[in-house]
Amino acid sequence: VIDRVGKTFVDKNGRQTVALENIDLTISEEEFVAIVGPSGCGKSTLLNMVAGLMSPTSGEIYFASGEREMGGGESRASTSPRVAVVFQEVALFPWRTVLKNVEFGLEQLGVGRRERREIAKSYVEMVGLAGFEQSYPHQLSGGMRQRAGIARALAIRPDLLVMDEPLSALDAQTRVIMQEELVKLWEKARHKTLYVTHNIEEAVYLADRVVVLSRRPGRIIRTLSIELPRGAR
Ligand code: ADP
Ligand code: ADP
Repeated sequence: VIDRVGKTFVDKNGRQTVALENIDLTISEEEFVAIVGPSGCGKSTLLNMVAGLMSPTSGEIYFASGEREMGGGESRASTSPRVAVVFQEVALFPWRTVLKNVEFGLEQLGVGRRERREIAKSYVEMVGLAGFEQSYPHQLSGGMRQRAGIARALAIRPDLLVMDEPLSALDAQTRVIMQEELVKLWEKARHKTLYVTHNIEEAVYLADRVVVLSRRPGRIIRTLSIELPRGAR
């Protein structure tokens, strides 16, 4: 739940930049919400706050279970909800194989070696990388690396999956293929997702709901519900 969130940056000369104003957005279970808007409208800022890397200036962000994620300057408890983020350029560990990369988050969570391996394998398969478990990131194409990054994010079973322009660094052809892959993947995982892009077509193709932000300050200027089922778009 993003509840009347605003963010104002103040630089060292005391100049204020209102990046976001009065953002109200609740993502339901199994909902894929895309946020679109021009560069500088506050998309990254919003993601940073949702991921817990930055606190809002006003309003609050929390998970509906009642567990508050951010706000009020309090520190995050170890029981706080899990948010997995997939960035434009997935930061895979170059010295680790695909499988080991996907295992990473599970390792952090203290999952035992054998179980970790099994879970990681299933996610590698889910994103269509079966057979590439032992490959290293540099041996993969851009689209495959992005898939590995998504597998790594999904493997920890996050409460929220956040994707920040995950396809923007790919060439046009790979991008279209990956859009289709994302739809298939989403049908399998049905993970609560917040997806940021400046590409409205991509947003409409992928999401259940598209939230459009204005240039500056970023405000929600429109929310579109996409009614056609994904398979028919
Ligand atoms: P987007 O991701 O949509 O391109 P950003 O969230 O990066 O937008 O930025 C939104 C606005 O906030 C921009 O005007 C940007 O210059 C400003 N901004 C972002 N981060 C900072 C910061 N750390 N300090 C000052 N201004 C910032
Ligand atoms: P994007 O790729 O989303 O457009 P930017 O390149 O605008 O992001 O910003 C990259 C990073 O720099 C962001 O994390 C943002 O918070 C920060 N940033 C953006 N604008 C400013 C600014 N005016 N002052 C300080 N930091 C900024």
